[in-house]
Amino acid sequence: MVEILKGCKECQALTELNKCPHCGGKISSDWSGYFVIIDHTRSRIAKKMAINFNGKFALKVR
Ligand SMILES: [Zn+2]
Repeated sequence: MVEILKGCKECQALTELNKCPHCGGKISSDWSGYFVIIDHTRSRIAKKMAINFNGKFALKVR
């Protein structure tokens, strides 16, 4: 089964759910870019994007 991920418009987290499990924000299937935060305390990207949890993220969510 193919995992269909959607991106959160608020925090850019990727999820298969219909609502963001992290912030409860709206999600969109129109996203691009992909990155994984393994350790948000040591990630420069996480710091820049104000991400305070680990997971999969989209660079852009429209
Ligand atoms: Zn979110």
